[in-house]
Amino acid sequence: MSEAQQSSTIYENVVEFVENYLSLVYRRRVSDVSDMVWCPEWWQHAEAVARLDALWRAWEYFRLDGAAGISVWFLDHADPHMFELLDRHGPFTYCSVHGGHQDMLAPLPLKSPPPYLFGDPAVADHETGSDSARVTIYRDVVEFVEDYLSLVYRRRVSDVSDLVWCPQWWMHAEAVVRLNALWRAWELYRLHPATGLSIWFLDHADTHMTRLIDQRGPFEYCGTEKGHQGALPVDDGA
Ligand SMILES: [Zn+2]
Ligand SMILES: [Zn+2]
Repeated sequence: MSEAQQSSTIYENVVEFVENYLSLVYRRRVSDVSDMVWCPEWWQHAEAVARLDALWRAWEYFRLDGAAGISVWFLDHADPHMFELLDRHGPFTYCSVHGGHQDMLAPLPLKSPPPYLFGDPAVADHETGSDSARVTIYRDVVEFVEDYLSLVYRRRVSDVSDLVWCPQWWMHAEAVVRLNALWRAWELYRLHPATGLSIWFLDHADTHMTRLIDQRGPFEYCGTEKGHQGALPVDDGA
């Protein structure tokens, strides 16, 4: 970011934005008796940092639109991000205002796929990218899931929860298609610094992940402890 761009933001960084704006404006009953949770050490959560940083950047962008800007920011960005963050099954699930930060939410457990499953086409795609549009941060969907998504998008997906996750997600065609699309969308939206990652989270990641970890979704028979149990059968209409 150039100096001109830096001085054009009201807040210097996401911490200033959360401390001096968001926490004052967005007050909710997040004490222990409520079904909404908040972690005073939100910056310990990669997902909260990613979302709130995106929310800050979107605010700096929308405030320049003196007409409907802040209304759009509230409805299309702040509300859905805060809904996810404050949800008691969300990233702060083990934390609370009184108990403080609890470092208990593990990354989504993963087993790596055999290399032949995702090997050559993705690598070729990556390495032949001479035009800038083809240059990606992650080599393929596996690297994206292992090095980004599973670390950022942590949820309580143990077998006692009503959220399910399969460590061998790559055995499920639906998960492969969704997560591959999610990776490609991330590579596109990251190029838009003002609102890109906020939109990626809300319009792509949240929707896909909600479908995937739903207990009646594609991982219905699988679990983090019992592992992959086979994909749902295809109904052949017989
Ligand atoms: Zn916490
Ligand atoms: Zn499975």
